[in-house]
Amino acid sequence: MARAERSFKTAAIILKRRDFGEADRLLTILTPAHGKQDVIAKGARKLTSQKMGHVELFTCAEMLIHTGRDLGVVAQAEMIMPFNALREDLTRGAYAAYCVELVDRFTGDGEDDTNRLFNLTRETLERIDQEADPRLAVRFFEVHLLDVSGFRPELQFCAASREPLLPQDQVFSYSEGGVICPQHAPAYAGATVPMPMQTLKLLRMLQRSRYDSIRETGFPNGLIDDAERLMNGYLTYLLERRLQSVEFLRRLRREGISITSSRPSPNTGSQ
Ligand SMILES: [Zn+2]
Repeated sequence: MARAERSFKTAAIILKRRDFGEADRLLTILTPAHGKQDVIAKGARKLTSQKMGHVELFTCAEMLIHTGRDLGVVAQAEMIMPFNALREDLTRGAYAAYCVELVDRFTGDGEDDTNRLFNLTRETLERIDQEADPRLAVRFFEVHLLDVSGFRPELQFCAASREPLLPQDQVFSYSEGGVICPQHAPAYAGATVPMPMQTLKLLRMLQRSRYDSIRETGFPNGLIDDAERLMNGYLTYLLERRLQSVEFLRRLRREGISITSSRPSPNTGSQ
């Protein structure tokens, strides 16, 4: 993919960081307007490097990136938000790792319009860094990541019939991506998980309300953990399906089957 600009300045969140060559690091960064990218931070592993502190995992930095033929090179990095607790506290670090892994796996390399995802990720890391109990922040993140990625779960209408849901216990279907009412649930038997009314209430609020007002409402931890189980199941289902489609494409390629060859091209159609 050719990039017109030779260098650009951008805010960047460091999603992944691994050693590269003798002294460099390869970073996977998320930016507001340049998508997700792999970039090289040269000399970042030398203790004397001025860049060292600026390319820590989970930090948000202002970067000047020179675009090369393959990978961009970080020419300057200035820390904006260090989020120290994410590296010093094991539990917070685990939550942060979970969130950035989801960002990484739900974001394709060619996507440029990542402004909403960038803001969501930055705000979430800040909440995990600061709040006494980051669980609600992580649930808010999951629901909005699904929204940004095009998998917004249907929580207002029955995913089978599109009828408004009544205030009662329902089920959730991963394959339909939404709640199914008791009337239509039997048709999906074995492929759904329970969706109690209180869990649905929390998920709806996560989807539609501002984070601060959800926090003020105050939900019991047991309910937040129920929402976690449900969202984890749905996220895992989506990622496995995505992996399967990637594996399917690989298999087609291995077997030398062209995906487009099965369709008649516009020029050879019946005329
Ligand atoms: Zn229904």
